[in-house]
Amino acid sequence: MTMTLPADFIAHIQTLFDAPEAQSFLEVLRGVPSVSIRLNQHKTPPVPAMAEPVPWCSSGYYLPERPSFTFDPLLHAGGYYVQEASSMFVAWVLRHICDTPVRMLDLCAAPGGKSTLACDALPAGSLLVANEVVRNRAQVLVENLTKWGCPDVIVTNNDPSDFTPLGALFDIILVDAPCSGEGMFRKDPAAVDEWSEENVSACVRRQRRILADILPCLRPGGLLLYSTCTYNVRENEENVRWLRDEWGMGILPVPEVRPEWGIAGNLLPGEDFPVYRFLPHRTRGEGFFLSLLRKPEEAETTVPSRRRGSRKERVQAVSKETIARASAWLEEPADYVWAMRGDACLTAIGRPLWELDEVLRPSLRVLQAGIPVAEPKGRDLLPRHALAMSTAIRPDAFPRVEADLEQAVAYLRREAVSLSGDAPRGFLLLTWRGLPLGFVKNIGSRANNLYPQEWRIRKTSPL
Ligand code: SAM
Repeated sequence: MTMTLPADFIAHIQTLFDAPEAQSFLEVLRGVPSVSIRLNQHKTPPVPAMAEPVPWCSSGYYLPERPSFTFDPLLHAGGYYVQEASSMFVAWVLRHICDTPVRMLDLCAAPGGKSTLACDALPAGSLLVANEVVRNRAQVLVENLTKWGCPDVIVTNNDPSDFTPLGALFDIILVDAPCSGEGMFRKDPAAVDEWSEENVSACVRRQRRILADILPCLRPGGLLLYSTCTYNVRENEENVRWLRDEWGMGILPVPEVRPEWGIAGNLLPGEDFPVYRFLPHRTRGEGFFLSLLRKPEEAETTVPSRRRGSRKERVQAVSKETIARASAWLEEPADYVWAMRGDACLTAIGRPLWELDEVLRPSLRVLQAGIPVAEPKGRDLLPRHALAMSTAIRPDAFPRVEADLEQAVAYLRREAVSLSGDAPRGFLLLTWRGLPLGFVKNIGSRANNLYPQEWRIRKTSPL
């Protein structure tokens, strides 16, 4: 079925390009999108057969066709993330702009493509706050980041304005803004139906409000990555110009971008500041726009408001013995502070992350910080799924049982899993191609499936 593009959108594209280029752009937009994945660099899964590298992201690969991702256990083990190739350019940017640990905020983070990417691209020791304002999307963000397994992450569920009083906390802020989604027309035909000039204007207003709310949280000299998945200049170059003119932001080039990648530049008449536009007729991927900006060193910093948040979470007492038992499951237990809050889960939080968490928690809705390790149940300590997924788990903390495909899919559906008679009793880590899928408790006659109920595969057939 041929996609019908809005007439106003076509007219705008015809103002951006000359006639032959506009035609080839619009033709490609009616075609089939490419499929790509990004491998988890801390879990090192195998490179898929026939995959071709994404030039600007060393862990990104184009696939020859779209497999049934839902039924691939490697996806659920956090072995890779399905992400369109253009947006992996953020990895190139992060790798070239920071070489020492940073505090980064990914403000509009769900479902987690760029947050999981940042976990791999930032220097070791960096801290990431991944925020999403829409509650159910924030839950998906927790799921994807938990599977990715990076320990130094805090997930919050707040409006950008909730961050404003916290002051200049971050070295890097990514605003991957909600936009009119023109770059997703090929992947998501619903975006075509929702498109209108009025919607573009509403997006611009919302983007500026988000940027104005969050800029006080960037330290002077700190870097802002502003990105969208849309083509029009109003949500892109015009917003960048607004950041320059109204906020004094410097617009920076991204180092070492190669001409053969076909990334286009500024399309705003009369301006030539550097911006990075991925156009599907020039580059293999969907539409993506990125600009790198620096807050002036001399920018005024707002003192964190005295009207600090008043959220209080009861920290529950935990015995030293319980902490000692849970510590034995982590590779570097001395690196963590332990806390058990309202959710009755014993959580390990790296010390620098703990300090940041202490600042955020009174004002923000923190959904997860660090590694949820275990739930004390009577005299038992139940390991949490997040521990199985975490790259901080001690490799020999639990006996491991490698699953075949049938067992792995049954496990991910949260069905009964049958193990061989010689499997050890107690908590076991079920693995797929060596990567943990999650825990079972083997009681001999059967193995209890401990996969999170809310994440189970519900689809019945791979087709
Ligand atoms: N960065 C994500 C990724 O790479 O997977 C994609 C983010 S998507 C382009 C934009 C996000 O902004 C959506 O998750 C949306 O729910 C969120 N959003 C919508 N309205 C918002 C607002 N007013 N303030 C902040 N975020 C908002």
